[in-house]
Amino acid sequence: MRPLFIAGNWKMNPSTEADAVALAEAVKEGVGQDHAVRVAVCPPSVFLHRIDTALANSPVGLGGQNMHPEPSGAYTGELSGAMLNDVGCTHVILGHSERRHGLGETDAFINQKLHAALKAGLIPIVCIGETLDEREGDRTEAVVAEQLDGSLAGLEPDQMAGVVLAYEPVWAIGTGKTASPEQAQDVHAFIRARLADRFGEAIAARVVIQYGGSVKPDNAADLLIRPDIDGALVGGASLKAADFLGIIEAARTVTQAGKA
Ligand code: PEP
Repeated sequence: MRPLFIAGNWKMNPSTEADAVALAEAVKEGVGQDHAVRVAVCPPSVFLHRIDTALANSPVGLGGQNMHPEPSGAYTGELSGAMLNDVGCTHVILGHSERRHGLGETDAFINQKLHAALKAGLIPIVCIGETLDEREGDRTEAVVAEQLDGSLAGLEPDQMAGVVLAYEPVWAIGTGKTASPEQAQDVHAFIRARLADRFGEAIAARVVIQYGGSVKPDNAADLLIRPDIDGALVGGASLKAADFLGIIEAARTVTQAGKA
């Protein structure tokens, strides 16, 4: 019903096009023509065009890490959805915590980008998640609810079905601390229930909700087996082909065992 979806967020890595192409080619080779698990990589924008070529004839999707809501104009340093589309992107990450917290992106701005991404024919991966202070202050659900409501404002139910969400507790990103499978499942179930209230049960049941935060080959299966965890957004471990492929392999095993 919801094939598991593993996406790699390469962030500002690697430093050279040659290394980026080598990584993409290794992922392509490891995935082969297997369509059981959805896979995408999100390299730095300067490498997207070259990586699109490297991924030719592969089921591995290509994503941008960000975009601007406007289609064109005087926005120095920015990229539009149409540009991402033109260089072969199928996906775009929106509202990553490094942009929310490091660059001050708000839910309202992410919402504008979301509408623009859908208009440009991209599959958005919208990131949400609480900080450590918010979790320790017992505010996880309130924060996630606010981010969901703000980021997803104005969406029609059929549009929502095509949006991917990534629950990424900020305290687990790049820290080596993973949310326990139970902690992650609890928040994913909360997210799906909130989607059901707003968009209806049938739509909520179709929305892919990835988990992100220090996912590795050895903890992936325990997370992916949970009923509301539909994949992973992977940072650090997506930079080593063997680790990323190990996570994809865990997703395959979970799928073969009857999930999805
Ligand atoms: C991320 O950047 O989205 C992420 C989850 O990073 P990491 O896997 O390194 O924690």
